[in-house]
Amino acid sequence: MGRLLLSRAETGFTLPAFERLAPPPPPDLVQARMEANSAPGDIVADLHGRGGWIARAAVDRQRRGFSLEASPLTRLLAELVLRPPDLRHLDAAFSSLAASPHGETSLRLAITDLFATRCVTCGRTLPIDEADWQGEELLRLHYRCLLCRDQQTRSERQAVEPGGEDRDRAARDVGAMQIRRRLRERFPVPDGGDGLIEAILGLHTDRQLVGLAAILARVEGDLRAAPVESALRLAFLHAVLPASRL
Ligand SMILES: [Zn+2]
Repeated sequence: MGRLLLSRAETGFTLPAFERLAPPPPPDLVQARMEANSAPGDIVADLHGRGGWIARAAVDRQRRGFSLEASPLTRLLAELVLRPPDLRHLDAAFSSLAASPHGETSLRLAITDLFATRCVTCGRTLPIDEADWQGEELLRLHYRCLLCRDQQTRSERQAVEPGGEDRDRAARDVGAMQIRRRLRERFPVPDGGDGLIEAILGLHTDRQLVGLAAILARVEGDLRAAPVESALRLAFLHAVLPASRL
């Protein structure tokens, strides 16, 4: 369907990860070409699918759609574009993922605990936003306490010296060696590309990798409807970049 033309035109909404990989074709152009070249009841085949958008437009115009997806990643997207999950089911999937058992606690609490500190003013446990390091030494923790902002009209953002508990937590072994090894095995390694895999994993701190691996294990370990699983995998993809050092 005139790929060159499509790729030059304005893009519609998509996830940032797809903006460069597989931008959606402009709906007006797709509609015009479909009306000009096919009739209701026809089969519209997209042999170089980039997320099922053409097949979706075909179905919306009483055609039948057929999409051969160009990569596993766009296939995930096509799953959502062609069979959007019920939002309530998706919401329930996120909730059950967060509440799923992990060690002696839940996945959400286990991950929160990796990044937790206590507010120096009110004592509440909070996730840190940032930690400043100088070499191996933990210098400063940044966090936001909404309770202190609302009740004591303090600034929401706090930067504090870490306490003993924080230093202990920072020094704790979170099992990252094993996780790095497991994640390394998931990557297809191009010839001589061992360094590339290390560099990709090196974008994340130990704790981030441990958290991401725990989420991924749950996404892959539980049985779900295909569109919901695809949505969770794409949500995971969406989280990987902000959770990196970049
Ligand atoms: Zn506080």
